[in-house]
Amino acid sequence: MKELVVISGKGGTGKTSITAAFASLAQNAVLADCDVDAADLHLVLSPKIKQEQDFSGGKQAFIHPEKCIGCSKCAKMCRFDAITLNGPGNSLIAKTYAVDPVSCEGCKVCVEFCPVHAISFEAAINGKWFISDTRFGPMVHAKLGIAEENSGKLVTLIRKEAKRIAQEQKKDMLIIDGSPGIGCPVIASITGADAVLVVTEPTLSGKHDLERVAQLTANFGIKTLVCINKADINSEMTDQIARDADALGLKVIGKIPYDEAFTKAQIMKATLIEYTGGSISERIRTMWQELVYQLG
Ligand code: SF4
Ligand code: SF4
Repeated sequence: MKELVVISGKGGTGKTSITAAFASLAQNAVLADCDVDAADLHLVLSPKIKQEQDFSGGKQAFIHPEKCIGCSKCAKMCRFDAITLNGPGNSLIAKTYAVDPVSCEGCKVCVEFCPVHAISFEAAINGKWFISDTRFGPMVHAKLGIAEENSGKLVTLIRKEAKRIAQEQKKDMLIIDGSPGIGCPVIASITGADAVLVVTEPTLSGKHDLERVAQLTANFGIKTLVCINKADINSEMTDQIARDADALGLKVIGKIPYDEAFTKAQIMKATLIEYTGGSISERIRTMWQELVYQLG
């Protein structure tokens, strides 16, 4: 089983549209959406959820209002200003202290120092993850709570589950919509993958993003291929990026011209391959064939 991760330096490069198009070209694949901070592969693939589970990225403090005596010790000790006089009243006081789960960093200081043991340390539910069926095969995806930061851990979990399903069902490919950027979630998306396809655009930021991503994938020794999307909006920059890629030892396997089909297909909840049999569809097919060949 081969594992392909599609990534980009930033959002909006067409990464998810290209991943979805690959999903409709692959014959026997498992799909995973590891872009957990802005998951939108499900918008095109319309997964039917078969299993749903809570995701806990770590533990957090929780004040039991019925026990709190309002001494304010916890609020004074919390270095993250996560505790405020914002909880419901009890038989002793009109308001108790409460922990803001978004700000709590789980350092456990308040738990240790509460004189009446009113604070417990509990697994925080940061989101949900799902195993679903799509018209192109099984898909593992997630929904992270607002302002949650443990996405690297969630990405690792999604990949692990997707791999397990791929092995169980004897699939020959795992196609991952990876996280953008170069931070923890993208590292969690690509570590140990067989190949990474970087989708970039012919802009100065696209050029810089490719350099940064290339450095990252080189550090992990992962085969890195490049797709320049909207290649015709700046042919000079496209040529420059292709030269840069060459110098960095990366293979450009696709130059896709700007096409409104990207947006229109998304609106129709269809992949580019389903939406159009035109030249864009052909170019993506050619890129896919090259990818399969490169994966060996
Ligand atoms: S330290 Fe304990 S008792 Fe004091 S305010 Fe905090 S939760 Fe309430
Ligand atoms: S666990 Fe640490 S960060 Fe969280 S509320 Fe307590 S003192 Fe603040």
